Amino acid sequence: MSAIDSLPPLREVIASHQLSARKSLGQNFLLDLNLTAKIARQAGDLSQCDVLEIGPGPGGLTRGLLSEGARRVLAVEKDTRCIPALQEIAAAYPGRLDILNGDALEIDPLTHLTPPIRVAANLPYNIGTELLVRWLTPNDWPPFWQSLTLMFQREVAERIVARPGSKAYGRLAILAQWRAEARIVLSLPPGAFTPPPKVSSAVVHLTALPAPRYPADANVLSRVVAAAFNQRRKMLRAALKGVSPDIEERLLAAGINPTERAEQVSLEAFCNLARQIATS
Ligand code: SAM
Repeated sequence: MSAIDSLPPLREVIASHQLSARKSLGQNFLLDLNLTAKIARQAGDLSQCDVLEIGPGPGGLTRGLLSEGARRVLAVEKDTRCIPALQEIAAAYPGRLDILNGDALEIDPLTHLTPPIRVAANLPYNIGTELLVRWLTPNDWPPFWQSLTLMFQREVAERIVARPGSKAYGRLAILAQWRAEARIVLSLPPGAFTPPPKVSSAVVHLTALPAPRYPADANVLSRVVAAAFNQRRKMLRAALKGVSPDIEERLLAAGINPTERAEQVSLEAFCNLARQIATS
């Protein structure tokens, strides 16, 4: 019996359901239920919330979320082999766990959830950044989620919380910090996972701000920062040549020196530039 619930230890679950980890699905499992409960606690008070979990696998974090009191969890898992193991968890927490067997990039989980909603996941690394960018760039704000508590490769986590002037500063930092408060709350060595990945990991907690820090159109801002950091060593007037025909004037109007590099430009200045370009 494990410390947090009456279900079998995860090693037994994996053995009995023959869940050998598949690299193609980014499967690095967390088997320590005290650790998954700790990650669940980083998501805040879940008792009044529905939680969206992407990639529950054998259900370590799912069990953490439920034992920490989540009102309801919707677990979206692509690997059909994991579904029977998840059904055993659903039976132990009647009415609190819904399982969706599908691709998180294809389905609309929102039709199954009632606000307030928090997202918590040990994400498959191959789709983690794509999901994060989607969650940060809807046209309207505030988004469907109150907070995101997500596992990333340490390097990606550092890019999310990076400040201007640092090597890690780029598109992810700008999109995350524009509309959310982002913090690294936990660091995990490779050995925390089965099988261990090559790199360290970190949990990032993002809280949605009631309104973006500076006005801008999400699509335009996304496009501008993608172009600016795609050629991060170039001066901005060269890197952004394709974005607007009169980019030099737009940069000056936004208060940005056209010979500067993207790395030096603040979030506020990028938002000014996005507004300048949107009105051109
Ligand atoms: N949450 C589990 C844990 O912490 O032990 C598993 C985490 S593992 C890093 C990522 C999980 O995401 C795997 O179970 C994998 O099958 C699942 N997955 C991969 N791609 C997916 C997708 N496109 N949609 C939903 N789940 C996916």
